[in-house]
Amino acid sequence: MTSFQHDLSAQLDEIRGQSLYRQLREIQSPQGRRVTIDGKVVLNFSSNDYLGLANHAAVVEAAREAVGRYGAGSGASRLVCGSLKVHHQLDSALAAFKGAEAALSFSSGYAASMGAIGALMEKDDVIIIDKLAHACIVDAAKLCGAKLRVFAHNDLNELEDLLKWAREKKARRALIVTESVFSMDGDLALLREIVDLKDRFGAWLMLDDAHATGVFGANRRGLADAFELSERVEIQMGTLGKALGAAGGYICGGRPLIELLINRARTFLFSTAPVPPAAAAATAAISIVRSQEGEDLRTRLWARVDEIKNGLVGSSWQVPVIRSPIIPLIIGDEGRAMETSAALKSKGILIPAIRFPTVPRGQARLRLTVSAAHTPEDIRFFHALAGET
Ligand SMILES: *Cc1c(COP(=O)(O)O)cnc(C)c1O
Repeated sequence: MTSFQHDLSAQLDEIRGQSLYRQLREIQSPQGRRVTIDGKVVLNFSSNDYLGLANHAAVVEAAREAVGRYGAGSGASRLVCGSLKVHHQLDSALAAFKGAEAALSFSSGYAASMGAIGALMEKDDVIIIDKLAHACIVDAAKLCGAKLRVFAHNDLNELEDLLKWAREKKARRALIVTESVFSMDGDLALLREIVDLKDRFGAWLMLDDAHATGVFGANRRGLADAFELSERVEIQMGTLGKALGAAGGYICGGRPLIELLINRARTFLFSTAPVPPAAAAATAAISIVRSQEGEDLRTRLWARVDEIKNGLVGSSWQVPVIRSPIIPLIIGDEGRAMETSAALKSKGILIPAIRFPTVPRGQARLRLTVSAAHTPEDIRFFHALAGET
């Protein structure tokens, strides 16, 4: 073995030793409530496709049509020659959906976060993030050169202390970044209080609505919409790959924000535009989410969420109070989480174990997610197995 391979093998052994080794498992079917894995059909309780749009006929057809019309690739970054009509249609659809002045799509939510934070923040600025914020926020905050401070999850006192600290330091700008619906816990940011605090201190707020878009709010725009605070959030970001069932990410807000991103967001400038079918699929999904069908799908999602939670009351699992499509079943030990997940899979249910570094060490869990595509029978099947596990 070369020293390169030897070094890497030693690192892999260390990962295995901590029950943190990860492997790709090939899914042989399309994404859906049932998937085929290792040749076996299992019920899928792990997808972020909350409304079942990834395989919705109209979304698939929009992608197919876009391939026919625009081809498979976009050719270049949008600023070079890749700014196709499908991308402009998506940006307009996003702005209209979110009730924002303007929007800009990116190739992923990760790229949207990296691009936006990198474009807005630099050396003399301060970024304050929730401890449980997604890796794409942490990485962007580290890379942009601003001072990074972290407050304990939803701890408003600590957030206020950090805002005071930033003021005393005479930081040029202070940006708070939080998820709206937390991806691994399913709970919600204390948005009203956070918005009040940031206004009081003259800070800015970036809200990552990855798990709320399409699911929360009267217009299914996300959590800021649910709290009627959209106007007061400077930067709204999200992904097109979860409830919208496609792929890509977005930032929306005022026109100057979007113009600045077009000029400065490096993940936008220096990356090939998303492929036409992805953009078209997302646009079609947005139009479904905005329609009565979107409301019906959401109603179905909440019905399944309520059923699954009611059936867990009295079990050994702690049932979260908040109504969210993400239901963490906390186990703690990484090895035991892996065993529980494997036992469920052998009986026909897919819920992968979520471990460090996705969640803190010793807080391994099964992250159960519910979709509008699930049926009441699917939920009963889960309860029957959960009782045995
Ligand atoms: C999934 C996710 C992202 C990244 O979005 P992608 O489009 O998958 O890159 C960002 N933030 C949160 C909270 C997420 O869960």
